[in-house]
Amino acid sequence: MPKKRINDKVTQIPATNNDNENICDSNTQSIIEPQENIIEILAQPTKTEISDSDKKANTVSISEDDDKVKHFDDASVHFDLISPLDNTRINLKRYKRQDAVSHTYDYDAIVIGAGPAGEAAAMKIAKSGQKVAVIDPRKQVGGNCTHVGTIPSKALRQSVFNIISNRRDPILNQGIDYHQIPLNKVLTKAREVVRNQVETHTRFYERNQIDLINGWASFKDTHTIHVDMSDGTEQDITFEQAIITVGSRPYRPDLLDFSHPRVFDSDKILQMDYVVQRIIIYGAGVIGCEYASIFTGLGYKVDLINTQEQLLSYLDDEISDALSHDFRQFGVLIRNKEEIERLETYDDCVILYLKSGKRIKSDAILWSNGRSGNTDSLNLAAIGLTANSRGQLKVNEHYQTDIPNIYAAGDVIGWPSLASAAYDQGRCAAAYMVGDENAQPVRSVPTGIYTIPEISSIGKNEQELTAEKVPYEVGQAFFKHLARAQIIGERSGVLKILFHRETLEILGIHCYGNHASEIIHIGQAVMESKGGNTLEYFVNTTFNYPTMAEAYRVAALNGLNRVF
Ligand SMILES: Cc1cc2nc3c(=O)[nH]c(=O)nc-3n(C[C@H](O)[C@H](O)[C@H](O)COP(=O)(O)OP(=O)(O)OC[C@H]3O[C@@H](n4cnc5c(N)ncnc54)[C@H](O)[C@@H]3O)c2cc1C
Repeated sequence: MPKKRINDKVTQIPATNNDNENICDSNTQSIIEPQENIIEILAQPTKTEISDSDKKANTVSISEDDDKVKHFDDASVHFDLISPLDNTRINLKRYKRQDAVSHTYDYDAIVIGAGPAGEAAAMKIAKSGQKVAVIDPRKQVGGNCTHVGTIPSKALRQSVFNIISNRRDPILNQGIDYHQIPLNKVLTKAREVVRNQVETHTRFYERNQIDLINGWASFKDTHTIHVDMSDGTEQDITFEQAIITVGSRPYRPDLLDFSHPRVFDSDKILQMDYVVQRIIIYGAGVIGCEYASIFTGLGYKVDLINTQEQLLSYLDDEISDALSHDFRQFGVLIRNKEEIERLETYDDCVILYLKSGKRIKSDAILWSNGRSGNTDSLNLAAIGLTANSRGQLKVNEHYQTDIPNIYAAGDVIGWPSLASAAYDQGRCAAAYMVGDENAQPVRSVPTGIYTIPEISSIGKNEQELTAEKVPYEVGQAFFKHLARAQIIGERSGVLKILFHRETLEILGIHCYGNHASEIIHIGQAVMESKGGNTLEYFVNTTFNYPTMAEAYRVAALNGLNRVF
């Protein structure tokens, strides 16, 4: 197959981003506020929105709070890409259709999006000897996962966790008023982690000689991608196969004005630069609950509005109840089965009106109710693909879309919308792309919820086993009885093992307590070992002592005592 290199047009993403240097000086620990997020738009705005000179240049710069130019009807305009952890200018450009189609393939494979799914796919393809390029509008790799999702939120959670621990410790508590620390300052550590992650992952791309193309991708046909390059140029790239790994973004209903300084979603919240006493979190899914922990840890009063009957209803009831109990203890006011009617915004507060007639006044609102796949900027119509109403793509067992040479993985295909799974989906899809038929699609994923304390589970819960009339039994271990938990001061928590009372096969494991997301993997390994999935493993195997893993032995013995 003839290949044409286009290196002169390829932008290598730098290993370090000097643009970032003025945000956080990690040597002196001083925190410098991120600059106002300036967004450049190359688009077809309405007459009232741009000046004549801007029109001539076809470019207009706006600031975040200039709401006049925030609303576009043109579906071909790229969505806002927030980079709260750096001052990178993101070019949003209008897709320009070009009719010329080349049949010479520049690349064996093109990966659209440099998040976990895209990275894993690119590495697998490159390692198989094929020529691959990754396209992403961010100058830095890592995707939303590294810049606005998993990594900053987990680093933020750890900072808050440390604040809580320090506050409780009379030696470390030096009279700092934590209520007076704005969220974006608590993010100092997160910025450092993001920067390190970007550097590490950039090296992976370099080592595997993967071309990084900095721009927005959209399809021209099933073998040609158009890229609006970040340097203002455009190019068409031909490919034999492509994988769409464009991820997702927070769903923003028209009901709310997200340009208002008191209205946030999970991307924008990382820019919150003022102190609040109270905050409303609308949506009590994983992100809503994780932020409820973060805000209560910082001493905010939280109103958590849940549209469901109970928190995280797919969890084991006992774990969901434990979370609700602890949230209430820490000052979270949970309102279940509520729905928004409207939101009023003022300079100094917001008022949320619920359909039940309730009114809640607060300093700010974090909207965390749903996410949309980033497919709207891809010009899918050009290849005959359509996304569902949530912007997600349908794929088969091989992560192949309805177009045979176009694959998709990660958040853009919906379930389970986790970085953990996105890596595996991307790698698996790429395996199929390079002809490895032995690849296994992702089917079983543990739940990992980084509330304070953490929640993690795998397999079935008690409600499911009861409904299926499975003869199961429960073994429990409370952290407060474990030597290790007492030593490290993590006394609150429980590990629950659900097992078949006749075969002793482990059917589900549920853990609530700090380190739950690590602890679960011991049980997961046993559950998934062929021929070795039995509760007896934990009784017959010697574990290090003292460890949190001892919880498995304690829970197994507790469960076996119930079997008669
Ligand atoms: C607050 C929060 C906390 C989270 N916590 C966790 C957690 O603890 N554990 C966990 O496993 N998951 C967590 N997640 C979910 C996780 O971040 C996502 O599942 C993961 O990022 C999905 O990876 P991805 O590769 O599909 O896409 P993304 O990480 O979303 O990356 C997609 C990339 O595609 C690029 N892109 C978009 N459109 C185009 C285009 N037209 N052309 C070129 N590039 C494009 C984007 O710029 C982006 O860089 C969290 C998410 C959020 C929001």
